[in-house]
Amino acid sequence: MISYNELNISYPSIDLYLSMSCNKSCHYCTAWTLEMRNLTVDMDFLRSTLSYFKEYKARFNLLGGEPGLIKNLDEVIAEIKKNPNHIPAVLSNSFVRKRYPYVLEDPTIFYMEHLVLDFYGDKIEKLGNYDFFKKNDKNNYNIVIQTPGYFEYRKNYDLRYIDHDNTILKAYNSRSPTFNRLEQDPEEKRRICAAFPSVPVIDFEIKKIRHCSKKVINGSRQYEISQENIDKMMNYQLFEFEEYCKVCTEIIPQFRKEHLLDVLAASGPSL
Ligand code: SF4
Repeated sequence: MISYNELNISYPSIDLYLSMSCNKSCHYCTAWTLEMRNLTVDMDFLRSTLSYFKEYKARFNLLGGEPGLIKNLDEVIAEIKKNPNHIPAVLSNSFVRKRYPYVLEDPTIFYMEHLVLDFYGDKIEKLGNYDFFKKNDKNNYNIVIQTPGYFEYRKNYDLRYIDHDNTILKAYNSRSPTFNRLEQDPEEKRRICAAFPSVPVIDFEIKKIRHCSKKVINGSRQYEISQENIDKMMNYQLFEFEEYCKVCTEIIPQFRKEHLLDVLAASGPSL
């Protein structure tokens, strides 16, 4: 079983947007519809897509949309697990606990739960009626976005019970409509991000690669899924610094910059 740190260092992350459908309507989400559609994954498409990645270590994030709505999620996970280079990670609003509870019991599946809609000065508004995960060895994680409300709540209440290895704190970012950070990270950082953004996407609705799922979800560049394009993508040669990268105000984590600089120095193209 690999650790979360090893996962982050050695397994590039690829989002699989299985369906855009969700049972919730979080105000900051850019990739959902309450309309229920494409809930059964086309296994032939999944198999051929995974085959292009067969020589590469990769972490496949199953999301969209809410992965718990997918009717054959168990088949999808089993298919990914067939290749020892591939690690499945499920990102759910907690609905997976109801539909596919085995995901939480299997430590070879990383389960990331986005349980909080937001924090307020005096309460936490959750998406499901569950407690946060305690420290565990099952690879179950709380994902907590550090919104302004998070810091306000933390001033008033003791939140130390989530301060452990199974909580992932994420910066408040441009997914939120109230995010109004005007300054940009330096162009060098954005160029590195553009070469392999933290979230390139395989979109199962349009059956294409999307460059980036940040605020530009409907506008980022699309590519055909082919062996040639996947090889280029995994070798940092597919994606370019686009017009939307020039205006991007996403916070690009420093660890990604350092990690990608090392990789690019070893074998990648110049930026
Ligand atoms: S739009 Fe921003 S987050 Fe997306 S690839 Fe470009 S620089 Fe990275």
